[in-house]
This record gives sequence, C-alpha cells and structure tokens, in this order.
Amino acid sequence: MKLYTVNDYIRDTYGEKLYKLALNAGTTCPNRDGTAGTGGCIFCSAKGSGDFAEDAGMDIMAQIEAGKRRISGKTDCRRFIAYFQSFTNTYGNPEILRKKFFAAIHHPDIAILSIATRPDCIGDDTVAMLKELAAVKPVWVELGLQTIHEKTAQLINRCYTLPVYDRAVSRLKTIGLHVVTHMILGLPGESVQDMTETAAYIGRSGADGIKLHLLHVLSGTPLADMYRNKEYEPMSMEAYTDALISCLKMLPSGMVVHRMTGDGPKKLLLAPLWSGDKKRVLNYIHRRLSDIN
Ligand code: SF4
Repeated sequence: MKLYTVNDYIRDTYGEKLYKLALNAGTTCPNRDGTAGTGGCIFCSAKGSGDFAEDAGMDIMAQIEAGKRRISGKTDCRRFIAYFQSFTNTYGNPEILRKKFFAAIHHPDIAILSIATRPDCIGDDTVAMLKELAAVKPVWVELGLQTIHEKTAQLINRCYTLPVYDRAVSRLKTIGLHVVTHMILGLPGESVQDMTETAAYIGRSGADGIKLHLLHVLSGTPLADMYRNKEYEPMSMEAYTDALISCLKMLPSGMVVHRMTGDGPKKLLLAPLWSGDKKRVLNYIHRRLSDIN
C-alpha cells in the first residue's frame, strides 16, 4: 500500500529532510482548568501529552538548543520543525505566546513552526497571529480530534463537538496553513467501523495530514483506573495494525500520513506493553503494508 508519508511531503515541499524538536510553551488546557471541562481527556498524562517535550522553564532559544543536542546522535539534519507539543498551545496569554512563537520561527535553524492545539482554541486573535507567523515561514497546526463519534467524545471527556472541529479546519485553511488532524485508534467502546468512519471524515474534512495514534494507558490517568477495573482492554498489535490499515484505506491519496502509531513514555506506560518496542511495531506495520502491495 503506497502512502504519502510526512517524509515524502517534506522532501517534495521543502526539498530537504527536517527533524522535529518538541518544545513547550508552558500553557495549560481549557479541558483541565474548568473553561471547557475539568480533569482533561481520560488518556492525557500530567504533562499534557508532551512527555517528550523540553522543559517549559527554559526560554524558547534554550529549548531549541537543548532539543538539537538531544537528537544530535540520531540525525544529520541541520534544519528543524519547532513543534509546540504539550497541552493546548494557543491557550494562554496571547502576548507571551506570540513572543514564543516568533522567537521560534525566526530561529535560523527552524524551517517550520508546528503548533498542537484544540479546535475550540482557534479564535479570531489566534487566526490573525497564525497568519502573521505564516508570512515568515510555513506553519502547521495540529488538531486533536481523536474521534468523530459524540458518544466516545463524551466518554473520553473531550469537551467540544464535531462542528467546532469543522469550523477550525475551515478557518485555518482560509489562511493557507497545513492542518494535521490527530485520531486515536482503540478508544473505549469503538469498533473498527467507528475508527474507519473517523478516518474517512478526516480525509474529507479539508485537513492536509493525519496522525494515527494507538491509545496508551498511562499511569495517573482516568483511563488507567478503567484499565485496572477491567473496563478497558487495550488492542493487540495485530488488531491495531488491522484497524490502522482499514483507516489508511479510507484516506484520499494526497493526504499526508504524519504518524501511524505512537510511543507512550516508558515510565508511565501501563498498557499495551508491546507498544514500548517502537522499532518492532513499525517493522510489523511496514511488513503488513508491503504485503498489501
Ligand atoms: S485537550 Fe489535549 S492537553 Fe487537553 S486534556 Fe485533552 S489531550 Fe490533554
């Protein structure tokens, strides 16, 4: 099965290989502080799904340098994607966020600014700021949708509805940004058909790219309690790959596949433990994909 991967897209669009540096803007999330909800999404770790990001206490320049040092043995890339990963990166003091994003985008080694956020945090001021940033260098916005199914959205405590996602995509596309939508496979109560419906919807939604994640059970989350109480059973590697392939088949041919699984932080990962061996998992997925060709 031929996929248009993020590496293909970066090579075709920017003519070079780029590596992601996970940064931390020091934001929180409206789903934790009571604005949209409390407690956060049931799977979200205390670090707001930014467990691999740099320390928010450091300024952005120091975070970029620390990230470069961290990956220096892994890649010969000299230009990078500044990825604001933790929590909701368009939620916070607009002046402070603005300074951080502009500091990152003006760094000579940064080729792209990528901002992870929630669709309910794309207001007028944010759109205006993103437009200004996009005049400097390319900007990607990553939206955590996870599922299109309202029942599941309520169960995972996502705290916004599907039309909010549609409106966010449309606003971001109006200013020409690259939009990446995150979905999670293996959410409680979802069948493979539910997952493929979400993938198909994302494929039609106007998003340019997709990140497909495995649901990890992380220590200290409400999902961990469900897992201990036997109310949630994680997917096997084989079942995950079957569902993943079914989802990939639903995507339009030009959609950029940014991710096909994820690796939860090892210190927090309770299940499924097979996901801790990322190399083995990716080898298995690639073997299964090549069998389809
Ligand atoms: S919206 Fe993102 S940061 Fe906020 S609780 Fe959910 S997963 Fe965590």
